[in-house]
Amino acid sequence: MVIDGLQFARKSGELVGRIDGAQLTRLAEIPCQTKEVLFRVVGGANAAGKPSLTVKLIGDMKLVCQRCLAPLLFPLSVETELELSRNLDEIEGADDDIDRVLAAREMNVEDLVEDEVILALPMIPRHAECLSLVVDKKLDAQVEKQVSPFGVLNSLRKRPGRR
Ligand SMILES: [Zn+2]
Repeated sequence: MVIDGLQFARKSGELVGRIDGAQLTRLAEIPCQTKEVLFRVVGGANAAGKPSLTVKLIGDMKLVCQRCLAPLLFPLSVETELELSRNLDEIEGADDDIDRVLAAREMNVEDLVEDEVILALPMIPRHAECLSLVVDKKLDAQVEKQVSPFGVLNSLRKRPGRR
């Protein structure tokens, strides 16, 4: 799917669709899995009167918690307004909060959507409370209370004089 950025903005174009998760290979590397991402791209002008694209995304993303390494579900629902810039210098030289993207005659919508999904994900995904760690702690506590066969083995091994 390809759009001519500036023309799409000028004509107030609208594009609605879905991208299969299997196509989102850069996301897979994060790792982030999803069945699909639904998107809506609307062309127009932003508050400054510059040509822009408004990108709305919805998807159920599955990330990996960086604390307990268990799956972490992240419901994605974002809307971003991107000003279309005519050159990279304008994007790099800007020091405001406006998100910009390079306007091109052939802008790949899948790439645009994947870029915006990546930007919308948490930098370091973490559960508010890692359930698996809570369960592990409880199990550890139980094991310590009981005299486990492993505990006995360990104390045998630690007997002075033994090798
Ligand atoms: Zn976790």
